[in-house]
Amino acid sequence: MIKNNRLSDEQYAENFNDIHPPYENITAAKVDANRCLFCYDAPCMKSCPTSIDVPKFIKQIATENIRGSAHTIFTSNIMGAGCSKVCPVEKLCEGACVYNLLEEEPIPIAKLQRYSTEKAMQNQWQLFQRKQSIGKKVAIVGAGPAGLSCAHSLSKEGIDVTIYEKESKGGGLMTYGIAAYKVTPQFCEDEVNYILSIGGIEIKYNQELGKNISLVDLQKNYDAVYLGLGVGVARQLDIPGEDLVGVVDAINFIYNIRDKGYAEVPVGDKVAVIGMGMTAIDAATQAKRLGAKEVTMLYRRTEEEMPCTKHELDIAMLDGCEIIWLAAPKEVKGVDGKVTALICTKMQLGEPDASGRRSPVDTGETFSLEVDMVIKAAGQVPFEELISGNGIKNSKGKIVIDEKCATNIAGVFAGGDAVNGGKEVVDAVQAGKDGAKAIMAYLNIA
Ligand code: SF4
Repeated sequence: MIKNNRLSDEQYAENFNDIHPPYENITAAKVDANRCLFCYDAPCMKSCPTSIDVPKFIKQIATENIRGSAHTIFTSNIMGAGCSKVCPVEKLCEGACVYNLLEEEPIPIAKLQRYSTEKAMQNQWQLFQRKQSIGKKVAIVGAGPAGLSCAHSLSKEGIDVTIYEKESKGGGLMTYGIAAYKVTPQFCEDEVNYILSIGGIEIKYNQELGKNISLVDLQKNYDAVYLGLGVGVARQLDIPGEDLVGVVDAINFIYNIRDKGYAEVPVGDKVAVIGMGMTAIDAATQAKRLGAKEVTMLYRRTEEEMPCTKHELDIAMLDGCEIIWLAAPKEVKGVDGKVTALICTKMQLGEPDASGRRSPVDTGETFSLEVDMVIKAAGQVPFEELISGNGIKNSKGKIVIDEKCATNIAGVFAGGDAVNGGKEVVDAVQAGKDGAKAIMAYLNIA
């Protein structure tokens, strides 16, 4: 049965407790910082999409210059605090750390980064000074990582920025699309406020492009426009029974947990989650933590091809989620309009497809899973109608930009998930920086 309010307040609090325990004190942080070899040409820095100077900020921690360390991080990545919690570091900086070659534990870069950035947020250190206003105005659509990063870079240079955000809070997917045990709603709010504390950035909430605001008006009223509107619509499964009560999409499910609170979100006794990306993991683990008795994840390929990291998979398995590899949904069965079972097809791997991964092939063999809830996490699709409707050149809804982040419309720039179809938060932060640089060149600001 699907129902909410399955657990006590204490159980919810325990289940959604922060997954990353911080350092208890500076001494503990320094022990790890002092293990760093401060490599020349550091591979950890090269593997960071925002090129954070990792050896420098770690050295600053080792010498107890925490303020300087936070400055180093935020100079490259203004969402360095959030990224220290949500980045898949095992395939980025920590995965590149030279200690891996020595078959030793890599430096816990994310934990150290979290130490400095949280200190900066808690103490409200103002590490950047905004230049005096130069009388230029830029509109940004979307207060997600790309939009906020672009806004901060522009504001530093004295440009006045207005962000139009369709939700009632900023942060984008960081606030609405990631498991609450990784970043709490309070942390996300604090992070947005910290970024805004530089001044010169106004966010207008509940303002959606195409509904409350139009691109034409933004072009008229601002010197340039940056589109950082992300992706949103969940990919449909296109199978019979998809409209039964109990079939939900993962983004909505995660959004509701963040927006309404744990006790308000209904979850089934037996839940199937379709997909094996980060969103699928976040949906499965949170379904379990909300009190579902059984959670089964289905993926049509094998562990070798899964989009999530091994670390993410381990979280799901530790939470007790079952994984069925080489299985694809075929039909959702129901009684009285409600989900009762998921019929799946057994797959096998065939030739590599366009993505280079071996493609799943239907064996014709099926099996049935008794479930009362199905969570779809098979990816998201871009806002194709909105983008095409505004005359923006796109490829299946993904905005096409040139090397200067410019769209086909003069003065309109874009970046982040709306362009690449959905990558990591850290990629969106870098896209925002690139967008700001391109806008400044367009406005002839040195
Ligand atoms: Fe330090 Fe590892 Fe980076 Fe070298 S690769 S600078 S040891 S964190």
